[in-house]
Formats: sequence, C-alpha cells, structure tokens
Amino acid sequence: MTNHPKIYDILGDLSGLSVLYDEPVSRHASLRVGGRADALVVTENEDQLIEVVRRLKKNKIAFMPVGNLTNLIVRDGGYRGAILWMRGLESVRLLPDEPAGDHIEAQAGASLSRMVSLAAARDLTGIEFCTGIPGSVGGALWMNAGAYGSEIKDVVSTVTVIDGGGERKTLRRDDIPFCYRASNLPADVIILKAVFHLVLGEGAAIRGRMAEIMAWRHEKHPLQYPSAGSVFKNPPGLPAGKLIEDLGLKGMRRGDAQVSARHANFIVNKGRATAQDVIELIELIQEKAGKERGITLETEVVIVGENP
Ligand SMILES: Cc1cc2nc3c(=O)[nH]c(=O)nc-3n(C[C@H](O)[C@H](O)[C@H](O)COP(=O)(O)OP(=O)(O)OC[C@H]3O[C@@H](n4cnc5c(N)ncnc54)[C@H](O)[C@@H]3O)c2cc1C
Repeated sequence: MTNHPKIYDILGDLSGLSVLYDEPVSRHASLRVGGRADALVVTENEDQLIEVVRRLKKNKIAFMPVGNLTNLIVRDGGYRGAILWMRGLESVRLLPDEPAGDHIEAQAGASLSRMVSLAAARDLTGIEFCTGIPGSVGGALWMNAGAYGSEIKDVVSTVTVIDGGGERKTLRRDDIPFCYRASNLPADVIILKAVFHLVLGEGAAIRGRMAEIMAWRHEKHPLQYPSAGSVFKNPPGLPAGKLIEDLGLKGMRRGDAQVSARHANFIVNKGRATAQDVIELIELIQEKAGKERGITLETEVVIVGENP
C-alpha cells in the first residue's frame, strides 16, 4: 500500500521542498524502467535533507538516496517510501583555501561530467577516467565507480555524510572500506559531498584523453538505447561481457529488454521494457553462467523495490 498520504503529512509543511507523489521511476531512470515511488523528494540544501531524514526516520518511513538513477532498477511494484533525489545538491567548486588550487569540492547530486569539465578547464588531472560515466558524485562514490583502471576512491580525500544517527560527519578516504564497485558504507548512510584531490597537469593532454575516452565509449557501448551501463561485475579474471557472449546470450530478448548486440554486459531497453523483463534476463544469464561455467555473476546494478 502506498505511503503517499503519510509522507505528505510528514513533509508537507517544509517550504522549498519539491515532492512528486506516486511518481513512476521509469520517467527518470536511465534504463527507462521502474515502478512508482511513493514520493520522489528533492531537497533545497543539506540542512533540509537532514531534517527530511530525521522526520522520515521518526515516522519509520523507508528512504533511499539516489543520484542520476543510472545504475538502479526499481521493480515494477514500485518503492514503498521516499526516494531522496539529490538533484538539489549540485554545487561543484575549486576550494579557494587550497594553495595549489587542486582540490575540488562537489555535492552528491552534482553530475560527474560537471566535475570532470571543471577539472579540465583548470588543467587538473586525475578524474578524466570518469568522462562519459553518466552518474552523480554521490552515486559514483557509493558504487566506487571506475573505468580504464582507475576508481573514484583513487582521487577522493574526504566524504561528508549523514550517518545512521542523522548526524553530519566527515570521513577520510582511508576510513571507507572501498572495494570493486562498492564503498561498503553502512546502508543507512547518505553521502552529502566530497573533496577530491587532483594534480596540475597539461591541458591539451587532459582534453585529448577525455576525447579518446568518449570516442571509445561511442564505439563500444550501445549509447543509442536506454541502459544502466554494465549490469554485472566482472568475475575474477574475465570480463562479464565476454562470458555472456561466450554463453551465446548476446541479442537475447525478454519483451523489449535485450542483451545488447554491441556489448553483452549491457541490457538495453528497445522500447517498452519493464523492470521484470530486465530482471528475467539477468536471472537467465546468472543461471547459465552458474550451470555451464560454475561462475557466480553478481549484479553491479542495484535492484530494489517490490514485485508487482
Ligand atoms: C551508458 C552508461 C555507462 C556507464 N559507464 C560506467 C563506467 O564506466 N563505470 C562505472 O563504474 N559505472 C558506469 N555506469 C553506471 C553508473 O553511471 C555509475 O555506477 C554511477 O556512479 C551511478 O551514479 P548514479 O548517480 O546514477 O547512482 P544511482 O543509480 O542513482 O544510485 C546507485 C546506488 O548508489 C546509491 N546512492 C546514490 N546517491 C547516493 C548518495 N548521495 N548517498 C548514498 N547512496 C547513494 C543509491 O542508493 C544506489 O544504491 C554507466 C551507466 C550508463 C548508463
């Protein structure tokens, strides 16, 4: 049952808060699938987000922070609770008090692409590997996003969060147990912002590397269709895409969801796919990988919500 009226009672008096009730997640997720969230909440600033979290906790309403929804599948039955969309927290700036001007502070809802552009404009190197990753800073930190041999953990210095007790807290990089595609932060932590340490480099080389990465992505990834990027983590020593291709599953369809013919670790939406179509393909791939190769394929995409 929807919690929509209860959430309205709890948050309705907060001015400047923007809330979409019973909102289809498919409208906002990069894969264009997903059931309705009871509420999609956009806060104006960090203090308001802390207040929203305090009220939701007090009233035992589930909540989940999201960034750009580029690595997330909400099942077709929807999400019972409040999705906290970090779109209101989008600032990205060079820290003026750092003498070398080489520290960037970015709020969780800022897109990675804005941070990459600011770094390039100031000839700062270290973050070019994020070129073309469509996520937010918070999502990238949560997932320890990476590409071309680098991960976001390599460039982050500190991360400010709302901890499980609802308090603001700044963590040093070494306090966070990052691993392949995970930060391993406690499930009830919300990332507010982070400081990244970059290095002064050569502008033309930085921009050249970014162009090279973009060209590579356009060649290898099925960017003409909605997707959530790589669906599975690579098992040790083997790209998941190669495994899926070897299993003969490239091009396999369920409804309008298809294992991409261009890159087998992508599932694309060819029209009106549902979350269920995508999840059935995921399960089929996992079953075949297990039965035929003895390999457990773990999803990189995060799957949440209720079955219909
Ligand atoms: C075309 C395409 C290419 C991609 N290429 C890559 C790639 O090369 N490398 C790579 O690593 N990924 C890639 N991705 C996947 C995705 O973009 C990244 O994982 C990205 O970092 C996710 O960010 P997001 O803001 O979209 O997170 P979301 O999808 O919104 O959320 C993902 C998870 O992070 C959590 N989360 C989000 N924000 C916060 C926050 N502020 N605090 C706490 N938890 C939070 C959510 O609860 C959820 O569990 C690609 C995706 C697409 C569609």
